[in-house]
Amino acid sequence: PDTFSLFGVGIQNATMQSAVNTLIEHVATKSRNKALTKVAFVNADCVNKYIKDNHYQRALQGFDHVFADGVGLRLAARRHGARLVDNVNGTDMFPNLCHALAAAEKRIFLYGGQPAVVEETARRLKRDYPGLIVAGYLDGYTTPSAEAVCEEINRNDVDILFVALGAPKQEQWIADNADRLSLGVAIGVGGLFDFYSG
Ligand code: UDP
Repeated sequence: PDTFSLFGVGIQNATMQSAVNTLIEHVATKSRNKALTKVAFVNADCVNKYIKDNHYQRALQGFDHVFADGVGLRLAARRHGARLVDNVNGTDMFPNLCHALAAAEKRIFLYGGQPAVVEETARRLKRDYPGLIVAGYLDGYTTPSAEAVCEEINRNDVDILFVALGAPKQEQWIADNADRLSLGVAIGVGGLFDFYSG
């Protein structure tokens, strides 16, 4: 099967390439009438958190794709009768995804991280992926309300939104604001901007 259940959350058993293809497909078919596609990565640490945190667990249960990040997940999956075909984490996926998004000239928005971090991430993305449109970015500390963040995103006609507030904050944010956002895919990426800008 291509998903398995781990303590109440359905986890995708996908290769990196098929995961990227799936997200690109969602971006390509985004429409105003269709709800956005919610995407998360979970590692062993996240599983330990959502076992104890009902809000986090419930948020993940409403996500369209939860990918399995890391060797801890591989072991947990095996104990639940699934053999993972790949390690699908945000850090490895990001370049693949950006490459495909650039080829399709898609519009991305970055939300989260320290002001200097998200700014530098945007700068490097423009440099590294000609064709990719960084439609905008907002840091995860100084921005006022979720409503204001969503307005800014919607104003920029975004195809895919990367939310880097850490788990479970980012998953909760995506779950809480999904109905306000008009875009194709929202994806929680944790400390990714710190890595990418550093
Ligand atoms: N962050 C943020 N606003 C907050 C709390 C965290 O923008 O209120 C950012 C923080 O700057 C960092 C990321 O969220 O870039 C969290 O990274 P961490 O590695 O802690 O998250 P994980 O990958 O463990 O989910």
